Amino acid sequence: MADTETFAFQAEINQLLSLIINTFYSNKEIFLRELISNSSDALDKIRFESLTDKSKLDAQSELFIHIIPDKTNNTLTIVDSGVGMTKADLVNNLGTIARSGTKEFMEAIAAGADVSMIGQFGVGFYSAYLVADKVVVTTKHNDDEQYVWESQAGGSFTVTRDTSGESIGRGTKMTLYLKEDQLEYLEERRLKDLIKKHSEFISYPISLWIEKTTEKEVSDDEDEDEDEKKDEEGKVEEVDEEKEKEEKKTKKIKEVSHEWDLVNKQKPIWMRKPEEITKEEYAAFYKSLTNDWEEHLAVKHFSVEGQLEFKAILFVPKRAPFDLFDTKKKPNNIKLYVRRVFIMDNCEELIPEYLSFVKGIVDSEDLPLNISREMLQQNKILKVIRKNLVKKCIELFQEIAENKEDYNKFYEAFSKNLKLGIHEDTQNKTKLAELLRYHSTKSGDEMTSLKDYVTRMKEGQNDIYYITGESKKAVENSPFLEKLRKKGYEVLYMVDAIDEYAVGQLKEFEGKKLVSATKEGLKLNETEDEKQKNEALKAKFEGLCKVIKDVLGDKVEKVIVSDRVVDSPCCLVTGEYGWTANMERIMKAQALRDSSMAGYMSSKKTMEINPENPIMEELRKRADADKNDKSVKDLVMLLFETSLLTSGFSLDDPNMFGNRIHRMLKLGLSIDEDGGDGDVDMPALEETDGDAESKMEEVD
Ligand code: ADP
Repeated sequence: MADTETFAFQAEINQLLSLIINTFYSNKEIFLRELISNSSDALDKIRFESLTDKSKLDAQSELFIHIIPDKTNNTLTIVDSGVGMTKADLVNNLGTIARSGTKEFMEAIAAGADVSMIGQFGVGFYSAYLVADKVVVTTKHNDDEQYVWESQAGGSFTVTRDTSGESIGRGTKMTLYLKEDQLEYLEERRLKDLIKKHSEFISYPISLWIEKTTEKEVSDDEDEDEDEKKDEEGKVEEVDEEKEKEEKKTKKIKEVSHEWDLVNKQKPIWMRKPEEITKEEYAAFYKSLTNDWEEHLAVKHFSVEGQLEFKAILFVPKRAPFDLFDTKKKPNNIKLYVRRVFIMDNCEELIPEYLSFVKGIVDSEDLPLNISREMLQQNKILKVIRKNLVKKCIELFQEIAENKEDYNKFYEAFSKNLKLGIHEDTQNKTKLAELLRYHSTKSGDEMTSLKDYVTRMKEGQNDIYYITGESKKAVENSPFLEKLRKKGYEVLYMVDAIDEYAVGQLKEFEGKKLVSATKEGLKLNETEDEKQKNEALKAKFEGLCKVIKDVLGDKVEKVIVSDRVVDSPCCLVTGEYGWTANMERIMKAQALRDSSMAGYMSSKKTMEINPENPIMEELRKRADADKNDKSVKDLVMLLFETSLLTSGFSLDDPNMFGNRIHRMLKLGLSIDEDGGDGDVDMPALEETDGDAESKMEEVD
């Protein structure tokens, strides 16, 4: 043909095709679900367009999916009257532009995933090659001529203008030339079962072209009949014999005819009563809705009546999708229907972003059918629906929380979303806070809720304590916990970057203030005796505090005596309203765009010294004896840098710190400072460190 153009498949798609063709999978049947799902999407698109412009349906007013097995040619054809594809669509969508999911899918398969996951990765069309060695796609879009796409894989495909004269009006026809060993997909029974199993919730009629054989009795010869009747009249006594004769003269013939058989007859699942729907039916619906290969974790099916009316089914998946926080990808979460008519897939106005992992459908009785995306944004009805959906989602999460095992799964997958919710949804933050779980100084391997924390609070404890940091390991042994531990106060470990934001927004729980163990303003109740003792220590160490402040200059805001730490000599705390060390780390990692903010927010540090620590006591003595003692200066710097590290900050100049440590090591090893090349020959610091640490642990 003159105007046939040949295109090469994009490299990754080509790999995908080889994988599909050459790897052994037993679960090939999913191809049909994928193709029907594509047809359904195409029908959704044209229906949506037609809501505002009826003429879009002129070429074909009926919306349908037809499945035609042809045993003579061993082909299976799927026809839809959807939106169709223009020539450009054909070239782009079916072969030259790779989807982001192409590579991810191949990686998932290599990691042992099942081929039935293909739909989730946005490359479902290619599953046709599981059962076919040649695929021909004929398609007609309202804006273009009719085109034919054809490929036997093998690296390329062709696109040709269709001059056959066989017009399909509007839509797409996919003909699969089945592989010899895949002819089971021509059997009526098999096809019916497959459609019922995988596609029963498709909201367009799916009809199967079936063969009907009817048996008909026809008489052999009418003239003879007439003769016999005459005979009958004369020979009454021979009736029996005559009847026999008559039967012999009629015969049965088989008549083969074809007809459409509607396969998906059920009314939409959300219109049925929840108590009449089985778990399996919900699971089947969930899978058809999301392409997920696993069942849902939890479901909520409800209707709202009153000032407005709608029905909804909400699902929580078992795990987060591979692209949960991919902002480029449009969320595909809640499908919107109006009086049973599908309106749109990803209605962003229906659910806040932090709940984008919840899947489901909403069917409204009140919205107008021809609602446009622009109208949705200010629509009051939609706002009320949204409010209700959020409420129901939270109820659903609470239900999941009743089962520990389920909740662990849920929390692992979606705790970030809950925390994002606390940050963004002020109205519901209290309810969401009840869903939080944290490890703590007292929780062991389990995690605790804030509610449970409160029940464990000690007498005289007014606040809820937490510490933020990079990991559980990093905060577990923090000097900031020493005093709180000693008092028997529980401290929550907040080790998710987003915790910083969430807790900053939450501020309190059940009237108890959330207090950071690493910030100023940590006030622990003290007895009269303690107070007096502390006052005395404060006075005693006043001189040293001044000396330290002089040495450190504006590296610290102030230096004070405190009883926050018990074992360590000192720690660095940050202002109550500034960033914690952890937040500073997060912001540095994000390469702040607005550096003025960094200056303003970054931690104003206060050094809190522990007067009961022998190092501090010795320093005090030396400083009191001589304010300008050089060794004091050096030691103060070393203490400061060490507590930067133990308090969760990073060092501005690690080399200086290294040099100071080396000098101390030499001192410890009695090496003369001027003794030559000691500096160069220092053993790797890390190794030395490690040894020292493990020895200390042994001693402990
Ligand atoms: P997905 O459907 O997940 O986007 P596919 O590989 O199944 O990925 O399909 C690729 C694209 O081809 C679709 O996004 C759609 O634009 C187009 N397409 C596939 N099947 C049809 C169809 N029956 N009608 C119209 N367009 C289709």
